[in-house]
Amino acid sequence: MLKAAFPGSFDPPSFGHLDIIGRGAALFDELVVVVGANRQKKGLFTVEERIALVAELVKPWKNVTVESWDGLIADFIRDRDIRLLIRGIRGVNDFSQELDLSIWNKTLNPKAETIFMSADPRYSLLSSSALKELASFHQDLSPYAPLLVVEALKKKFS
Ligand code: ADP
Repeated sequence: MLKAAFPGSFDPPSFGHLDIIGRGAALFDELVVVVGANRQKKGLFTVEERIALVAELVKPWKNVTVESWDGLIADFIRDRDIRLLIRGIRGVNDFSQELDLSIWNKTLNPKAETIFMSADPRYSLLSSSALKELASFHQDLSPYAPLLVVEALKKKFS
């Protein structure tokens, strides 16, 4: 049984996140999307809102679940007996940060292995921050996020 965790802020989830989730769901028996609940890192969406959005969006994948966690991801996966972490890589900046994170996670939990998945070229410039920036200027978000997220962003900036 191959289980993996996909941690992130998902503030809010985008087509880039969903692409990684879909590819992860096809590779592993179980995939847990872990919504970071670090209260100091205040997002546009509350943790509850982010969980609700992700939960709705992952419904098509029967082997994908959503949880939140306010501690270290290294501890989350140890608790759940998971060894694999998935992270998306959009470019060299992501890579250098993600490599550091993966080494930290392995230091904190020697069983942890991080798998890097390259971003779909359509979404390699897409981030939650970019989505929020575009939303604040009332731009068309339909190429970048599902309708549910587009509507939620519209509400935040109305
Ligand atoms: P974090 O604050 O942990 O980086 P994010 O929600 O920004 O949380 O990202 C979670 C994961 O999703 C990271 O591995 C990130 O690289 C990946 N990701 C974000 N946007 C994209 C995208 N457009 N394409 C592929 N992966 C992405």
